[in-house]
Amino acid sequence: MTTDTPTPRLAIDGGTPVRQAPFALRRTMGEAEKQAVCAVMDSDKLSEFFGSPGPRWLGGPQVQAFEQKWAWQYGFGHAISVNSWTTGLQTAVGAVGIGPGDEVIVSPYTMSASATAVLFYGGIPVFADIDPDTFNISAETIRARITPRTKAILVVHIFGQAADMDPIMALARAHGLKVIEDAAQAPGVHYKGRPVGAIGDVGGFSLNYHKHIHCGEGGMLVTNDPAIALRCRLIRNHAENFTEAMEIADLGNLIGSNYRLTELQAAIGIVQLDRLPGYLAHRQRLAAHLSARLATLPSITPVASQPGAEHAYYVYPMRFDARRAGMDRASFVRAVAAELPAAGHVEQTPLTEGYVRPLYLAPLYQRQIALGRDGFPWNLHPGVVYDHRPGLCPVAERMRNEELLLTSLVREPLTESDLDDLVAAMRKVLSSVRPATTSPHTADAD
Ligand SMILES: *Cc1c(COP(=O)(O)O)cnc(C)c1O
Repeated sequence: MTTDTPTPRLAIDGGTPVRQAPFALRRTMGEAEKQAVCAVMDSDKLSEFFGSPGPRWLGGPQVQAFEQKWAWQYGFGHAISVNSWTTGLQTAVGAVGIGPGDEVIVSPYTMSASATAVLFYGGIPVFADIDPDTFNISAETIRARITPRTKAILVVHIFGQAADMDPIMALARAHGLKVIEDAAQAPGVHYKGRPVGAIGDVGGFSLNYHKHIHCGEGGMLVTNDPAIALRCRLIRNHAENFTEAMEIADLGNLIGSNYRLTELQAAIGIVQLDRLPGYLAHRQRLAAHLSARLATLPSITPVASQPGAEHAYYVYPMRFDARRAGMDRASFVRAVAAELPAAGHVEQTPLTEGYVRPLYLAPLYQRQIALGRDGFPWNLHPGVVYDHRPGLCPVAERMRNEELLLTSLVREPLTESDLDDLVAAMRKVLSSVRPATTSPHTADAD
């Protein structure tokens, strides 16, 4: 070693860690939520839904107020609450008319429910690869998967950044395809001035505990199409009991379920919605700070911003170049973790590797057994092979196996100085690596 400044010993090798104080956890529920819940308790009406025609088929006052507030705050024609976003996705797939054998193009790099929602109606999820810079599916990758059987595109705004919707909508219109948006990770996000969720035909948001705002479990469908809104409301609440009285002619997919949110959850959601703009602003400010600091680390590339697209930073994604770093991703993550306080909760994890395994690699798709045991719905088109072999979506596989890093530290109530500690830990680990096989020529040039 010829450097003057000795590299400090890494914590993983017994050196002093960069930081020992734990990263503060979120506190999601406040006094206002408590009071809202108590008021519902005092009313003794924890749900006012009725599963047959009458004034309460759309739920009680809290549920209806929550829906109206969400629609108003973001300018949606209709908002329809559901008891989870998984059931919301199923409702959306049913409402746009997907049936057995219909192909729906979806990202493989998402939570499993984005694809299984299609299977619930006998539709076939067809996986399009992601863009390596934004991690979203794009018009180019979708176009390659369109067949005469394609009926819809299910776009996921992954990690909270809006997908590039204009070219996707143009492609969908040219082929007569419906568009569903899974905006679970992107509540309150805009794309070229329009709120995501209802840029396509229908979409929505998750309200589970881990999302930006929550009510324990829940979801919110949004659409600007009144006919789709009606079908969503029917599917949410025992559609079959209403079609006769409401004189609905098209019975397709109008087997209903019970996907109803309670008054307690809606009361919490109403308060949480007020907090959302502040959370987004906080995360965007932290993300801008982190991206600027990371620019000094050549082996790390922050997520590229899609022009016109906001990012909600459900988590903050970046790419790791193992060759430039001179170490593999797993060793890097382990060494950085050692420099920082132990995570007692997933939200305190400084870096995770890879996000999910591309969905088609799960047994469900590998063995193609979904409804019953005979291969339904993939067996509906004799002669058509649904290929789920490794290599189907190489970019998603590369992100999973080699390149993607996520941090959970871009969130309230953390501050810029918390993120400076993360960057300090990353820099310390990277600078501990002896430059790999530097050629004599390069060394001279230095
Ligand atoms: C959280 C999430 C879901 C599922 O939402 P739940 O409310 O947990 O059912 C679906 N898709 C994505 C992308 C998600 O992040």
